[in-house]
Amino acid sequence: MLAEIIEKIAGFEAKGSQYYPRPSLAGPERCLRQLVYMAKGIPGKKKEDRFHLILDDSSWHEELTLDWLRKSAFKVHSEQLEIECGTVKWKGRDFPLKGHIDGIITDVQGKDYLLEHKAINHFSFQRYLEKDYPLDYLTQCCLYIVGLQKLNPEINEGILLIKNKNTSQYLEFRLHYDSKNDILYVPEVCGSNGYRREGTIFKNLYNSAIERLNQIEHYCNVNDLPPRQYTLNDWQCNYCPYNEICYENYQEEFNQLEAIQLSEDYQSLLEEYEVLNEQKKIAEQRLEEIKEELKKILLNANAKAGKIGAFTITRNIQLRKQINKDKIPPELIPVIYEEKLFETLTIKKQ
Ligand code: SF4
Repeated sequence: MLAEIIEKIAGFEAKGSQYYPRPSLAGPERCLRQLVYMAKGIPGKKKEDRFHLILDDSSWHEELTLDWLRKSAFKVHSEQLEIECGTVKWKGRDFPLKGHIDGIITDVQGKDYLLEHKAINHFSFQRYLEKDYPLDYLTQCCLYIVGLQKLNPEINEGILLIKNKNTSQYLEFRLHYDSKNDILYVPEVCGSNGYRREGTIFKNLYNSAIERLNQIEHYCNVNDLPPRQYTLNDWQCNYCPYNEICYENYQEEFNQLEAIQLSEDYQSLLEEYEVLNEQKKIAEQRLEEIKEELKKILLNANAKAGKIGAFTITRNIQLRKQINKDKIPPELIPVIYEEKLFETLTIKKQ
């Protein structure tokens, strides 16, 4: 009774988001081609109602985090302060690149830090916790620090705080930004579970962001599109509202592509691939043989499991759900099965 209503209300209340240059769109991971579609005002596929709930949840998570921080020794202030992070070209004129920061936190010594909060799904959270860096968010922080320095030249540090929406764990990227040389130092990444890893250095995030936003203006002016930033089966393309437009006539486009002569440098890479592939085939075949042999031992002994030293082998039966295609009414088949293009790579040796 209520579950469906909530999603529908969220969809109904959602305001369409028009493109204008802003820090949250300036990072290198956001597909440039997608942004050009947006900037040209081309309508993309309508987002599902639930998507608007997900966005709304994220802003409430930010409120919750700020509430916790207000109980700490840090002073939280300047929430949603508007700042100007630079100038880009938009619609033929200089356009101030404005943003609203999540806040500033001041420590007990009176030092100010930019605070940027993100609430994300479990899968992305784990990725950032263990190895990757959220380049779009880090770029946004560099832009914000530049904007903040116009109000307070002393601010050159920040914290990108990421919350796992599934587990409520936190992840913190400590930031030190040298705006003169456009170098972002991330000395350490730490999680609320005690996990820590060494950080790294990023160069040119700010300047690249400004350049990308100016490129959008250029592509709009010459009525062209940048190359696709991701390939057909990447998740970015699967979730992109412009997927259909972007890959319209892709088969014809693909058929017109020609073969090239690869540089000598790739010979050794292909040889390595060939060797590894052969090893994999041999290993897979041997693994199957071993498994078959072990299975036979248990079958012959009419046993469910067997042990030797630290090893245990076990026969399992599992109940799996599967679709019985024979039970699908024929009239539903065209609706259920969708045609989808996939791109694959084959490597052959003559
Ligand atoms: S479908 Fe993929 S390449 Fe095309 S605009 Fe979207 S994200 Fe970019």
